[in-house]
Amino acid sequence: MHPFNSGRNFIIGIVKLHNYNPIYNNILNYYIYDSYCYENDMIIDNHYMNLNIIKKYGLNVSNDIKLCNDINQINNYIDFYSNIKNKLDFYIDGIVIKINQYKIRSYLGVTSKYPKWAIAYKYNSEVVESTLNAIYYQVGRTGLITPIAKINPIKISGTIISSINLYNHVEISKLDLRVNDHVYIQKGGEIIPKIIGVNFQKRNQSIQFIHVNNCPSCNYILKRYNNLYYCNNSKNCTMQIINQIVHFISKDAMNIRDINFHTIKILYENKILKDYTDLFNIEKFKNKILNIKGFSNLFLDKLIYNINLSKNVNFKNFIFSLGINYVGIESAKKISYSYSNIHLLINAKLESLMKIPNIGEKTANSIVTFFHKKNNIEKIDKLMQFNIKIQYINNNQKRYILNGKIFVISGVFENYSRNKLNSIVIDNGGIITKNVSHKVSYIIGGKNMGPSKVLKAKKMKINIISIDFFLTMIKNDNIR
Ligand SMILES: [Zn+2]
Repeated sequence: MHPFNSGRNFIIGIVKLHNYNPIYNNILNYYIYDSYCYENDMIIDNHYMNLNIIKKYGLNVSNDIKLCNDINQINNYIDFYSNIKNKLDFYIDGIVIKINQYKIRSYLGVTSKYPKWAIAYKYNSEVVESTLNAIYYQVGRTGLITPIAKINPIKISGTIISSINLYNHVEISKLDLRVNDHVYIQKGGEIIPKIIGVNFQKRNQSIQFIHVNNCPSCNYILKRYNNLYYCNNSKNCTMQIINQIVHFISKDAMNIRDINFHTIKILYENKILKDYTDLFNIEKFKNKILNIKGFSNLFLDKLIYNINLSKNVNFKNFIFSLGINYVGIESAKKISYSYSNIHLLINAKLESLMKIPNIGEKTANSIVTFFHKKNNIEKIDKLMQFNIKIQYINNNQKRYILNGKIFVISGVFENYSRNKLNSIVIDNGGIITKNVSHKVSYIIGGKNMGPSKVLKAKKMKINIISIDFFLTMIKNDNIR
């Protein structure tokens, strides 16, 4: 049996079962966030009543929900939980405030990422104190030098942390951080730990921090850009090359499995890998690798198999694997839609790159600079000689972002005629229909949308989306 990827989706699946038995509540841990119920064939038009109805049917609804009638009641509620939140059975970082009436909710609408009718109030995060034992440097694949604080391991918001990113030297001097200091740590957004200050009263024999001038990996003199330091010795800097290879094999890049940072480091130190292109030549060094302690025939055969498997690669993953500054997998995807092959991308002009949605001047500049470097072109040529087969997106695929999704368009739209909207849907591979049925994926709803259509859509749980949401969907290629 496969483990479930997402606990939340698993629970949703179980709760949606027609024969759901409240006895499951004993083994499942969940609270219902939202629901739409009918009683006597009437839609319940507000959130609070809806939650109370499903509670009656035996589903888990938090006992901590409260209907507030004005802002004072909301503030009192927030204050009350601020005092007792650490005594609850579960961990909370804030309170969600939602609009109760669905009518007002649909008036407020949603953006592509979140509804405008709900907002989270975040409590100040927990602050803990620990000792700063050392500051060391990480050299990233782009040569960026990042100072990292090593602290006495400490538990914060449920996890134990021992190292914290300090970002840059300015941040360090702003805080006046010194080794041996007692420091205050907080989790930003409850995820990334951050040092927010020093307990100066406890300062004793602390050691002043001096920023390095040379790369901790290759000793090359560092260059400063704004507040950041870089090692520009990309051709010979060990840590840069190792991290470039680590990036190259990662899941969104070439996705070469069964090899990690540690293995790559050993293969680099033994001069088998000089850069990521050498991965495709690894078979030649089979005997040499087998002489290294810890490498077995079985492992090597599996690795060679995985490397060969990666040779068939989608264009977006290939672009991402090159490790161009500022080009994440989402940008790589957009770029892959815009150029029909790698050679056109290599020769792309700044203006042409900037026409791609979400690609700004900084990213476009970085792409142009990357392909101007002889070293990078040589590596791409070498990859091609190893028979890497890039799967490009042809024009037909490009047009079909909506990929057979069925749309109903209803109501009046300010800046778009019905014909214009129809053709946007069709041009992107969608299908238009007039009738609301279970086959419909989305209803694009405008002003004065017929109430019977709204009712039918709600009954069939079809998403009614605004024109703005639809346009963002196409732009961001955000189709679920
Ligand atoms: Zn270096």
